[in-house]
Amino acid sequence: MATVSIHPAVDNGVAPGRPGFSGGTLTCNCASDPVAVEIASDCLHNHVCGCTKCWKPEGATFSMVSVVPSDKVRVVQNGEKLKVVDPSALIQRHACTSCGVHMHGPVTRENHPFTGLTFIHTELSGEEGWAPPTFAAFVSSVIEGGTRPEAMEGIRARLNELGLPPYDALSPGLMDYIATFTARASGVLKD
Ligand SMILES: [Zn+2]
Ligand SMILES: [Zn+2]
Repeated sequence: MATVSIHPAVDNGVAPGRPGFSGGTLTCNCASDPVAVEIASDCLHNHVCGCTKCWKPEGATFSMVSVVPSDKVRVVQNGEKLKVVDPSALIQRHACTSCGVHMHGPVTRENHPFTGLTFIHTELSGEEGWAPPTFAAFVSSVIEGGTRPEAMEGIRARLNELGLPPYDALSPGLMDYIATFTARASGVLKD
């Protein structure tokens, strides 16, 4: 069987993060006048994602995506090139209109568990030491992106081998976090 490719940042093994890492600058793929976004914090909940909405590099099966508090995100260069891909989506993915790379995706919707967080792709930064991905989300969705269904067994096996346990939604920890938020909002959970 051909080697299963997940994402260039993990295909040769997942690099460990650096304790105390404090962020870096994301740059889009434009050769001239690139968009630059400064992130003043390490990332959280880094993972590879199989959905069809997250930006991924050419040829990758999965994206690699994480979050940071939105107040740690600052567009520092050529921000006028950014445009929201789908204003009706929960994640307001700001893409470079020249090269298509998604630079930052804040969640601003009221009363959503992810409000105040911004989705980012740390591979766009030259700095090394970001908290590494720890799981794979929405794995079955890669079929919607064109992966053959019969390839899924090999993909899940490779994800497990890389230490990225595959889930078909978010990780159990994040699903519990969302359900806890919802249960508190509805009053089912009192504290
Ligand atoms: Zn660009
Ligand atoms: Zn995704």
